[in-house]
Amino acid sequence: MIDPMLATHNLQRAAETQGGQFLFKSEVVDIRQDGGRVRGVTLGDGQEIDADIVVNVAGPHSAIINRLAGVEGEMKVTTSALRHEVHHVPAPPEFNFELDGVMTSDPDLGIYFRPAGGNHILVGSEDPACDERHWSRSPITSIAV
Ligand SMILES: Cc1cc2nc3c(=O)[nH]c(=O)nc-3n(C[C@H](O)[C@H](O)[C@H](O)COP(=O)(O)OP(=O)(O)OC[C@H]3O[C@@H](n4cnc5c(N)ncnc54)[C@H](O)[C@@H]3O)c2cc1C
Repeated sequence: MIDPMLATHNLQRAAETQGGQFLFKSEVVDIRQDGGRVRGVTLGDGQEIDADIVVNVAGPHSAIINRLAGVEGEMKVTTSALRHEVHHVPAPPEFNFELDGVMTSDPDLGIYFRPAGGNHILVGSEDPACDERHWSRSPITSIAV
């Protein structure tokens, strides 16, 4: 069974056994620096966390963190967020797609689908050349229902 939340939770618990701490729903809004060295981060609620090392794992919008740190121009590898069409639909009730479904990819049609939790099907685009690409500069998401 595919369960990304459980896998992520397990990683959290493993890190906590080694002294790691997690702050949820906290946005990094500033990377504080002094004398050419990073000194820590500031969160949206004003809380300051001091650190000699800050690791950027901000995912698709990690370029924003690089920008906050003033190092965007120095990066040999840069990131850009590409909007990606995904549909999450219920499987037919008479078929247990979560258990018996398979991961399928069809590059000719530019589509994949795979089992998802709660007997759903995750249908995604493989970004075929015929589809216009939408690059995003902002992490604000829009969801079409
Ligand atoms: C619908 C969908 C289905 C997918 N299915 C699969 C799959 O089946 N198999 C697979 O291998 N991969 C899959 N992926 C891809 C996979 O989810 C990503 O590759 C993976 O999550 C990337 O991990 P990451 O830690 O680099 O980034 P993310 O998981 O994006 O984590 C980055 C985190 O940083 C946080 N963050 C960003 N900016 C800030 C800030 N300023 N302050 C604080 N926090 C911040 C974000 O909120 C986020 O929690 C799927 C992705 C999507 C969207």
